[in-house]
Order: sequence, then structure tokens, then C-alpha cells
Amino acid sequence: MAIVQKKNEMPTQAPEIRAHNFNEVALGYTAEIAIEEAKRCLNCKNRPCVDGCPVNINIPDFISKMKTGDFEGAYKIISESSSLPAVCGRVCPQETQCESKCTLGIKFEPVGIGRLERFAADYHNLNAKEKRVMPTGNGHRVAIVGSGPSGLTCAGDLAKKGYKVTVFEALHTAGGVLVYGIPEFRLPKAIVAKEVDTLKTLGVEVETNVVIGKTLTIDELFEQGFEAVFIGSGAGLPNFMGIPGESLKGVYSANEFLTRSNLMKSYLENPVTPIMKGGKVAVVGGGNVAMDAARTALRLGADKVYIVYRRSMDELPARREEVEHAEEEGIDFRLLNNPVEILGYENRDDPRDPKNGFVRGMRCIRMELGEPDAKGRRRPVPVTGSEFELDVDTVIISIGTSPNPLIKDTTAGLDVNSHGGIIVNEDGLTSRTAIYAGGDAVTGAATVISAMGAGKVAAKAIDDYLMK
Ligand SMILES: Cc1cc2nc3c(=O)[nH]c(=O)nc-3n(C[C@H](O)[C@H](O)[C@H](O)COP(=O)(O)OP(=O)(O)OC[C@H]3O[C@@H](n4cnc5c(N)ncnc54)[C@H](O)[C@@H]3O)c2cc1C
Repeated sequence: MAIVQKKNEMPTQAPEIRAHNFNEVALGYTAEIAIEEAKRCLNCKNRPCVDGCPVNINIPDFISKMKTGDFEGAYKIISESSSLPAVCGRVCPQETQCESKCTLGIKFEPVGIGRLERFAADYHNLNAKEKRVMPTGNGHRVAIVGSGPSGLTCAGDLAKKGYKVTVFEALHTAGGVLVYGIPEFRLPKAIVAKEVDTLKTLGVEVETNVVIGKTLTIDELFEQGFEAVFIGSGAGLPNFMGIPGESLKGVYSANEFLTRSNLMKSYLENPVTPIMKGGKVAVVGGGNVAMDAARTALRLGADKVYIVYRRSMDELPARREEVEHAEEEGIDFRLLNNPVEILGYENRDDPRDPKNGFVRGMRCIRMELGEPDAKGRRRPVPVTGSEFELDVDTVIISIGTSPNPLIKDTTAGLDVNSHGGIIVNEDGLTSRTAIYAGGDAVTGAATVISAMGAGKVAAKAIDDYLMK
């Protein structure tokens, strides 16, 4: 049978429609398309795709099930390795992981592994009737700090082994960045809630509104009888540029902007707490978070949205698919541009001026690419005399985040590196006995699947430690 060279297209909402709503952009394969796509898999002997997946999903076997239409069987295989398949099928950068290793991809387009994973997970969530059986308890208690993908994965793996697991989450909703960072149009909240509910059926308890380091310290968790702790508190502290005007009204970090949109539900049709109305918005940065902020601003009613990025399209770190979607929706990419000042109204010192302290524009400078830096990326260099003003009234800064120092500051003997990342060994063990860590809290901002991989490694190490 002839090989189908291209991946089956993912059906999506039309750009001109989706730019004005928060419904999911990618609509998912139908069963027929999923089977067709699965049939593109060569089922090769050395299975390189499995090594490309940080949680080592048995990809060829789940795809084999899909070829015959056994979607529930496919889901079962995926869920042996992943506790969040409907999430990963949507947001994992498969193009740099499993799909980048696909043998078919050497000559043609790789198999759409992520799209197939999403289909199997959605199929299960819609159709599965069987109730999960609660594992038999082993009497040991483990505390997890943070309910993002690293914490949820660690919790799920330990619960399956019979541990009594409690997840402590600072915010009022479980899911971490999956709920308060990634927007509804890429990852619906209901999908994350369903995955969290699945974990609860395994006996995992989630206590929200508990800030570890304030409400309780890690040492107090041990006093309460927890025998090991996993820290999966993420990297939620936004970086700023340190340029004049960053404290004007109308300047947000992408974190704050997206958290407000997501958790204050301003994405609803008639939001109780709208966070912006119309206007011109500049998003500074070129990662996935910047794309999410720009596309969210558009959906919240911005008249014009710019991405201002200091390098060129080739260096832009966001996933290609997200960049293409943003371009199709009308986001204006101002590449090789860098902000030097955010401008306020002239009379910002006049307290009677209703616009006092608000943004009126952003002064930028054009850049060109110079010699490569230590990472091999060409360094952006300002072009003398090329400054210009961009007419905007909202600026969203999206130039990265770091781990919050709260847990380090309240846990004696917990070592961190110069970026604030918790230092761990290959098992996720920190400098303190029985305290493990993983995900963005260790690596700084990274990916969902790498956070899940770290949660898995730590769960195994915690089990080894408590069972020895
Ligand atoms: C807008 C955005 C878009 C992204 N898009 C993608 C994408 O498309 N694909 C991808 O793979 N990755 C993406 N990422 C990155 C990915 O979401 C993160 O790498 C991943 O969520 C990290 O998981 P984590 O478990 O380490 O931490 P998080 O998801 O950050 O979860 C940490 C949790 O800990 C809680 N917490 C923090 N401090 C405390 C405390 N002291 N006490 C109790 N709880 C605490 C936080 O409230 C949070 O719920 C994106 C990130 C953002 C911000």
C-alpha cells in the first residue's frame, strides 16, 4: 500500500470566526481520520518515538490499537504512562519530541502522534463507563506542593501504588498553568478538570487555597505526618525588562494578564470582571506565552495586537503551529524590534487627569542580528538612530518567568541555583531528605511533558525511599 506522505489535517475553526471567540481552535480528528492517520505508522522495530517522549508512552502499541478502531484499548496503553493524555495531546510540542524521532518523518511528514493521543483521550472521556477501582492503601502519606502537571503526575503515580496523597494548591482551582496560563481556546478548562477528577477517583485529595510557605511550611507538613514531600510549585514569578514606564497603568506581565483572563473568567461571553476593552496592545516576547497573551487580547476585543520581538522569525521560540494560528488571526508581528521605554500621558503628574498614569505608547528601537551568542543564536544588536513610537495603550510583557523564592525562603537547607531553581539529583531528590522537586520549580519555565516526566521520576524515587 502506498505511503500517505502528509499528516491528515487537523480540522480547525476558521480564523475570522475564532479570532472573536474562546472556543477551541483545533477541533480534533473524527474516528475515520484518526484511523487513517494511525495507518500511516510504519510500526518500525526500533520505536524511536518512545525515546522522544519524556514519559515514554508506548506509542507504536497505542497506534496499532487505533488502526483497528480500538480507541479504548489505545487509551489504556497511553494512560499506563501518562496521567494527562487529553492535555498532552493538545499542548505538547510533539514536533520537537516524539514526532521529531518518527521514522516516517525522515522522508515524509511524521505520524500525527499528538493528534492521535488527543483523539484516544477524548474518546475515552466521552465514552468510558467503567469506574476506576481505588487502589488498596499502603498506609504511607505524601504531600504534593502545587497542582500543575508535575504535581498531578507525581500524585497520580503514587496514588496508583496505594499512597495517601494530598495536593496543596495556592490558588482556588487545581491544574497549575494548565488552567490559569494556557487559554481556553487551546486547552478547555473542562478537559483539565476531567483529568483532575480522574486522579480524585484514585483517592488523591486536593486542598486549594493553601500557600505552602505561608499557610503551612514544608516542615509543618512533616509534623502533620506526611513522610515525603514533592515540590511542583512551578515558575510563576514574571521577569520584567527594567525599562522606564513599566509601572504605568495598562502594563501587565503575561502571567497576570492570562491569570486574570482565565481565573476571573473574562473569557466568558458576558464576563463579570472584564480586563480590557478595545484599544491597541503590544505583547513583548516571542514564546508560547506571548502568542497566548496576544491571541487572548484579540479575543477580548483589542482593535490591534502586535507581537514585538527583538530577533527574527527564525529565532522565534513559540511553536510553529501557534505562530501560524496567530498570523492567520491577524496578529501583527513586529520582528527585530525592541522596546526601550513605555510612554505615559504627558500630564501623568496631574492627579485630576482621568488618564493619569496610563500607557499612551511604546518607544522601540530596530534591531539587526549580529554574531551568535553562547547558545548559537544570533545576538540582536540595536540599529543606531532607528527609534520610533508604537501607538498602543496596553503593554503585556512576556519575557519569561522564574521560580518564586517563597518555598526556598521558608524551608531551611533547601538549595537553589542562581536562577532560583531548586537543585535536585537525577531522582528529583533535593538537598533535604524526603523532599523531592520537579517541573518548572527546578528547570525554570519549560514544558508540560517535561514537568510530567519529572513528577514520574520523583514518584518512583519516593516509592523506593518509603518502601526500603
Ligand atoms: C501561557 C502559557 C502557555 C504555555 N503553553 C505551553 C504549551 O503549549 N506546551 C507546553 O508543553 N508547555 C506550555 N507552557 C509551559 C507549561 O505550562 C509549564 O512548563 C508546566 O505547566 C509546568 O508544570 P509545573 O507542574 O512545574 O508547574 P505549574 O503548572 O506552574 O504549576 C505549579 C502550581 O503550583 C502552585 N503553587 C506555586 N507556589 C505554591 C505554594 N507556595 N503553595 C502551594 N501551591 C503553589 C501554583 O499555583 C500552580 O498551580 C505554557 C506556559 C504558560 C504560562
